[in-house]
Amino acid sequence: MAKMKAVIKAKPGPGAELVDMEKPVPGPDQVLVKVLATSICGTDLHIYEWNEWAQARIKNLPQVMGHELCGEVLELGKNVKNVKKGDIISAETHIACGHCYLCHTGNAHICVNGKIFGVDVNGVFAEYAVVPGANAWILDEKIPKDFASVMEPLGNAVHTVLAGEITGNTVLVTGCGPIGVMSVAVSRICGATKVIATELNDYRIQLAKKVGADLVINPKKENVVEKVLKETDGLGIDVVLEMSGNPIAIKQAFESLRPGGRFSILGIPDKPMEIDLGKDIVFKYITVQGINGRLMFSTWHKTSRFLSSGRLDLEPIITHRFRLEEFEKGMELMQSGNCGKILLYP
Ligand SMILES: [Zn+2]
Ligand SMILES: [Zn+2]
Repeated sequence: MAKMKAVIKAKPGPGAELVDMEKPVPGPDQVLVKVLATSICGTDLHIYEWNEWAQARIKNLPQVMGHELCGEVLELGKNVKNVKKGDIISAETHIACGHCYLCHTGNAHICVNGKIFGVDVNGVFAEYAVVPGANAWILDEKIPKDFASVMEPLGNAVHTVLAGEITGNTVLVTGCGPIGVMSVAVSRICGATKVIATELNDYRIQLAKKVGADLVINPKKENVVEKVLKETDGLGIDVVLEMSGNPIAIKQAFESLRPGGRFSILGIPDKPMEIDLGKDIVFKYITVQGINGRLMFSTWHKTSRFLSSGRLDLEPIITHRFRLEEFEKGMELMQSGNCGKILLYP
């Protein structure tokens, strides 16, 4: 049997291991890809650290970690028609069943039978991986190859920014992890008239400024609500894009939002939190929406066009590149917050 290198979560508890394991064989609806690049997501860090969410969610150990992918198609299952050998692909990481109510009604991203790479099935922190043909996204030639790996989280940002009106609006992005920083950049190219961000980490504050935030507030040093009200002539912000999962940031964001505004949430709090429904939502007449994954595949088309047109440049957001063997270095850097997106090369 042919072997490959892979980073696996072998057992419950913190950490991960680099191992030699059998190279996967594609099923009839899958393609085998050579992984050219992969990137570290917050989800991977949660699984690496083995936080409460990971303990409750991850069932099938041992499992290859990772879900963000740039790959070259090497072999095709017999039913796969939409890609060919040699294609460079990214991949939608939500594997949908194709036949449930949600799949039938254009909501495959929240398929009731959905599975996710590196969470429910073997992932892509490896030299090779298998991907359902239906999940393969052929990369536009104009887009640099290793950007393919980052299209999945970028798609989260695009989905969140475009989940309501954005052009001509003022926007508050709470939390400037990689997807927060991407949301700043996407809001700007979509015609937001003022983009304010909040962030504690200095490295990420600089990164948010670099990609076009008009103002980055450090909540440790300044009063977020006062500052946002001042910047919006006392009205409050039109749109909140919540990327932090931090209960304090979420409360401040509710207070910073203008009446009738939009509150789109991608960040995930560690545990249940309290909000004042009457004061913050009902009387304020605001719209609160959860965002999950990417619309399949309209978000992918838009994300791809933003990149191929040159309107959006990911280069400043990709701050580190390591070999797959150095994954621990990447995880430590993610923990420190002193990074944007980190790519790993098998
Ligand atoms: Zn991700
Ligand atoms: Zn389904």
